Amino acid sequence: MDTEKSNSDWTDIEIQAAVDAYLSMLSREQSGQKVVKTEENRILREGALAGRTKGSVEFRMQNISTVLEELGRARIAGYKPAKNVGANVARSIREALNAPSTLTPEDFAPTADEATLEQRSAKLEKQPIKEVPKGIERPEQTQSSGKSFVRDPGVRAWVRQQANGRCEGCGEPAPFEKDGRPFLEVHHVKHLAQDGSDRPSNAVALCPNCHRRCHHSGDRDEFTASLFQKVERLKFE
Ligand SMILES: [Zn+2]
Ligand SMILES: [Zn+2]
Repeated sequence: MDTEKSNSDWTDIEIQAAVDAYLSMLSREQSGQKVVKTEENRILREGALAGRTKGSVEFRMQNISTVLEELGRARIAGYKPAKNVGANVARSIREALNAPSTLTPEDFAPTADEATLEQRSAKLEKQPIKEVPKGIERPEQTQSSGKSFVRDPGVRAWVRQQANGRCEGCGEPAPFEKDGRPFLEVHHVKHLAQDGSDRPSNAVALCPNCHRRCHHSGDRDEFTASLFQKVERLKFE
């Protein structure tokens, strides 16, 4: 069993690596993917956490659970919160949780899998996107049972950043937060199924009410038309 003392000399870089791995496991677990914790622990000790023991990495993961629980955020069920987290370690974990993680080319890759798309856009969204993403003019439909379209995570992330926490339909703040971010859904004004594009000029960030309204209400055509007045970047397709 590791003690707080033997863990006190972790660098911020090591803590960031542990937090990044933890958040990645958490989002995979939430999207129903299988996560083998001992494997993740081993991979960390072969890289960023070389020289640390298995137990020490495990203990750090439990520290992260403690901090997440204090923040009222979701944690990995398998990592029970540790009782005594030092103040410095807790601060370093909190900073790492908010720090933008390093992006890899994979984070930008289009995908038809909703959970993967959301995971990638959520990661991209954490830092300002400087260039307007090109998106996909004619999103391809997968042949799998879901028949979903291949979409650009950058478009979803950028559109949400533009909305800045407010629904682009009604102008109200997002009704609740998810994983610490305002919950807004990205809707394609001309639906993908009607050959709409997955480009910023065809996408809006909506609250769940306005999103349902676009799809199901009696005034959906009028409401959709009003979006063109409210959101300048939209282009009629
Ligand atoms: Zn709304
Ligand atoms: Zn929609």
